[in-house]
Amino acid sequence: MTTAAVRSSSVELRDIHVSFGTLEVLRGVDLKVPSGGTTCVIGPSGSGKSTLLRCVNRLQEPDRGDLLLDGESVITADPDGVRRRVGMVFQHFNLFGHRSVLDNIVLPLRSVRRLSKEDAAEVARERLAEVGLADKAPYRPSALSGGQQQRVAIARALAMEPEVMLFDEATSALDPELVKGILDLMAGLASRGLTLLVVTHEMGFARSVADEVAFMDAGKIVEHGTPDRIFDEPESPRLQQFLSQVL
Ligand code: ADP
Ligand code: MG
Repeated sequence: MTTAAVRSSSVELRDIHVSFGTLEVLRGVDLKVPSGGTTCVIGPSGSGKSTLLRCVNRLQEPDRGDLLLDGESVITADPDGVRRRVGMVFQHFNLFGHRSVLDNIVLPLRSVRRLSKEDAAEVARERLAEVGLADKAPYRPSALSGGQQQRVAIARALAMEPEVMLFDEATSALDPELVKGILDLMAGLASRGLTLLVVTHEMGFARSVADEVAFMDAGKIVEHGTPDRIFDEPESPRLQQFLSQVL
């Protein structure tokens, strides 16, 4: 990784509620990640972790609550403006399959950051080099391993110069031997001071990289604290039970 300066922002959710029909998926979530901080969100499947992340980049509009970036409410701001500031990396990469690796990064740079073709290509090549894929620019994503595809997705998100990055189970679809490389890349972003909100099942990553860990269950953050507190002294029976299953 290069050590290019990043401009990070704090991100905060206040009393976020989301329902799908009669199903209450988020039931009053408060969460703040300070600028440059890393928070990992853990919890069982279906507890609302992805919905929570989607609220942070305005892919999901909450029924109630507020979203703040750098201390300012952006809950009624232009969603595209928020997405420009908040990058997201998904479990299944979400690359354009019929485009080259380079184009996957160039196209959003042109449409979102309005860069010229030449400038976009230059930025894209720099970001690809950062994730170790300079030689893969002309290939289709399908010619790459899962780990390489996820690196492209990360490079694409970083090319937007986000102030906050969201990772939703970014390593869950990868073969085991490819997981560490992606986690190392994420740890590198954390150490560069980018604000990270990371949904993960990788408890080792949460313990070693996160400043704070939040445990979600049934649409609420049941417990949050330092990794040592959460993993070594879990208070609620639900967290104790969850940890006994995953550790
Ligand atoms: P997690 O990421 O923790 O597994 P999700 O946020 O994906 O949880 O989902 C929480 C709950 O909300 C689940 O019961 C899921 O089926 C439901 N859900 C998520 N998105 C939608 C949607 N668009 N419409 C209806 N139900 C949804
Ligand atoms: Mg999920």
